[in-house]
Amino acid sequence: MRALKVATLLITLGSVMFAMTSCGAVGAPTETLGASQREQFASLEALSAIDLDPGVRPSVVATTSVVADVTQHVGGEWIELTALIPPGSDPHTHELSPGDLRAVAQADVVLLNGLGLEAALMTSIGQAAEGVPLISLSEGIEGLRFDSLEAEAHTDHPEEGQVDPHVWLDPLLVKVWVERVKDVLSALDPAHADVYGRNAAAYLQTLDELDQWIRAEVGRIPASRRILVTDHHALGYFAARYGFEIVGAVIPAYSTAASASAQGLAELVEVLEARQIPAIFVSTTINPRVAARLADDTGALTVPLYIGALSDPEGPAGTYLDMMRADVQAMVAALGDS
Ligand SMILES: [Zn+2]
Repeated sequence: MRALKVATLLITLGSVMFAMTSCGAVGAPTETLGASQREQFASLEALSAIDLDPGVRPSVVATTSVVADVTQHVGGEWIELTALIPPGSDPHTHELSPGDLRAVAQADVVLLNGLGLEAALMTSIGQAAEGVPLISLSEGIEGLRFDSLEAEAHTDHPEEGQVDPHVWLDPLLVKVWVERVKDVLSALDPAHADVYGRNAAAYLQTLDELDQWIRAEVGRIPASRRILVTDHHALGYFAARYGFEIVGAVIPAYSTAASASAQGLAELVEVLEARQIPAIFVSTTINPRVAARLADDTGALTVPLYIGALSDPEGPAGTYLDMMRADVQAMVAALGDS
C-alpha cells in the first residue's frame, strides 16, 4: 500500500518536474552564497549623497514585493520605487526582463533581501548594476542554517542554499530591514533624513504591534498542534519566533530551485500519517501538485500561504502587514481547536 502511494507520488513528481523545467524554472542558474555574491553587496559606509535636480526623487529598486512594501513605508512620497519581482512570482526562480534590468542600471540604489534569496537573479543584476550600489537588507541578521547533514544530502553544491533567506516571516527581523532602509535613504538623500526617520519609527511600532497580534493569535493553537509542514523550508524564522516545530518539507531545502526526492517524500508521508498532521502549507507562488498529492494520501489539507510574494494590491495580502495577518489566520484555522 505504501509502495503504491510512493509510486504514484513519483509519477506526480516527475510530471511536475517536467512542467517546471519546460517553463525554465528549475533550469534557472543558482549561485552559491559564497564570497562572489557577498562581494557584490555594498556597505552602508560606501554610500554618499546623490545629486538630485529640484523635484527629482531618489530612484530605488527593490527585488521582491515584500522588500518594496517595507521600503515604501520608510521612503513614503520621497522616493521613486520600482519592484522587480511582481506579486505572485516565486523569488527563488523569477527571471528578469530587459525592462527590469534597465531599471536596475538607472537606479540610485538596489535593495535586496540577501542571504541567497535572489541567487537566480544575482548574475544579471550584478551585470546591469554597474556603478549602482546593491544593498542587502538582511546584513547583520544571523541566518538560520541547516544542520549540515540534511543540507548536504539534498544539494550538489554544499554551500548552495544553506542559509535560510526567509527572514521577513519574522516581523522583528523586518525591524532590522527598516533601520537599514532608513540609513540607506538618509545617506543618499540627507535632505529628507528626518522624514525617513519619522516614517521608520512609525513603521517599527506597527511591526511591534503585528508581533503582539501574532503572539495572541498563535495562543489559540494548542502547543501540541504548533506543527508546520511546508512546500519548502520557508518558515524557520517564524517557527523560531513563535514556538512552532517544523517537521518536514516537500522540497527539503531553503529554495524552491532545489527538488524533492523519492526517499524524502516517502519519509514525509510516514511523518504525516504517524503524527496525524492536519495541514501542509504551500506557497501561493509555486505549483502545489506534489503537496496536494501528499495531502490526499495522508488525510491532510493543503493550506495556501503568502510566502515569497504579496498578492495583488486588492487581494488579501496586498501589503506585508496584511500578508502576515492572512498567513497567521490561515494557520490558526488549520491548526487551532475548531
Ligand atoms: Zn522560499
